Amino acid sequence: MPDFDVIVVGAGPAGAAAALEAARAGRSVCLLERGPYPGSKNMYGGVIYGRVLDTLIPNWWEEAPIQRWVTRRSTMLMAGDQAVTVDYRCSSWGEAPYNGATAFRPEFDAWLASKAEAAGAVLICSTTATGLLRDGTRVVGVRTDRPDGDLTAQVVICCDGVNSFLAKEAGLYPPSDPANYTLGVKETILLPREVIDERFAVRGDHGVDIEILGCTGEVPGGGFLYTNAESLAVGLVLSLPKLAACGRRPEEMLAELKAHSAIAPLIEGGQVKEYSAHVIPEAGYKMMPELIGDGILVAGDAAAMCLAAGIWLEGVNFAIGSGAAAGQAAARAVQRRDTSSAGLQDYRRRLDSNFVMSDHRKLREAPHLVMSDLAQQQLPRIACGVMEQLFTVTNPDPKPGLRKIIRGQMKLNNLKLRDAISQGMKALRTFG
Ligand SMILES: Cc1cc2nc3c(=O)[nH]c(=O)nc-3n(C[C@H](O)[C@H](O)[C@H](O)COP(=O)(O)OP(=O)(O)OC[C@H]3O[C@@H](n4cnc5c(N)ncnc54)[C@H](O)[C@@H]3O)c2cc1C
Repeated sequence: MPDFDVIVVGAGPAGAAAALEAARAGRSVCLLERGPYPGSKNMYGGVIYGRVLDTLIPNWWEEAPIQRWVTRRSTMLMAGDQAVTVDYRCSSWGEAPYNGATAFRPEFDAWLASKAEAAGAVLICSTTATGLLRDGTRVVGVRTDRPDGDLTAQVVICCDGVNSFLAKEAGLYPPSDPANYTLGVKETILLPREVIDERFAVRGDHGVDIEILGCTGEVPGGGFLYTNAESLAVGLVLSLPKLAACGRRPEEMLAELKAHSAIAPLIEGGQVKEYSAHVIPEAGYKMMPELIGDGILVAGDAAAMCLAAGIWLEGVNFAIGSGAAAGQAAARAVQRRDTSSAGLQDYRRRLDSNFVMSDHRKLREAPHLVMSDLAQQQLPRIACGVMEQLFTVTNPDPKPGLRKIIRGQMKLNNLKLRDAISQGMKALRTFG
């Protein structure tokens, strides 16, 4: 008899959701976490889109440990010392069922894992899965770093995050290409609640999410600034190979973003409490591994499920969505006594029928478009240049027409009309 029906490796959002659903379905579940508690090892930018929880934990917003509800969402294009911002506010996002919230991962992940425990899963922390146990080609459990720490199960669900060693060991990943990854770096900056409310023009538990393009120089990527209750999260996401080639340090580049005239007044006087960094599986659909093997499933960042599509950086909800589907499929396969690759195909069906695969398939070209020269360099420069010319009063000369300004900026930034049209069509096909 195996020790458990299901072993879930990693108690991040994917793992906690997988364990929750498998335990709820009546299976014996072990949730393994290498950190001393769930969330202790996890870092991200800061916004969780919680609607994926509606069916898993009804009225989750009444108890989830959140910092602020995001009611203002801005997209900023930067070029030199200039910035153009599209700023959207929505008061109803500050009411149930809400849209997005800032949250601290040590609090959020621990809360979600406690739900899995309450459903009957056994959480074992400070324990690393060091490899897979096999019977022929079939996965039958994991080795751990504890003495006599082998654990057996009918299904192992790998939720061990980006660079999943277990999925690689199972042969589910092709050789990895560094171009598929970005590095995220973040500072948490302390500021009093009332200062944040004033500077970001929000009140009560409302908060702001700012996404930034054009702030990473020659390295493709983007930036973000989020409000917590009494701190800000400011950070960058940077193409891994281009960062390595440029010879600059990510913290230098982050210091430049913090010094920009559109950002500096927002963070002024704040005290840096924490600096952290983590890799992101940026290429989404195009880099996903095989998701299913004999006795094994892969979910969350371990399966490159993070959606990194420029204006959207959504990993936690995709981790929860895929983890829950893996937990449900594993439980069903155990019940039917067929945990072979064929018996676990229900996982794929569940992913295909919910937002996880639909969004990834639809947006599969988005990471490439967002990292293109047009989005990274030309668009921010043209937008800022057009605004500068449009609003600079030229008296005694008359105002130049908008068409002339746009044409002039496109020429200045080497953007040909036919390239703009073809890229625009691609963007419409992807995002439309
Ligand atoms: C800079 C940055 C900004 C981001 N911003 C956002 C954002 O604002 N919103 C958003 O939704 N997403 C964001 N993301 C993406 C998001 O963080 C991830 O998509 C999400 O955390 C994936 O969840 P997961 O459970 O799959 O993996 P993880 O959260 O990485 O969890 C994996 C867990 O497995 C454990 N583990 C790993 N190996 C082992 C092992 N061998 N044995 C035992 N345990 C193990 C780890 O300790 C960890 O707890 C961001 C990411 C970065 C890096």
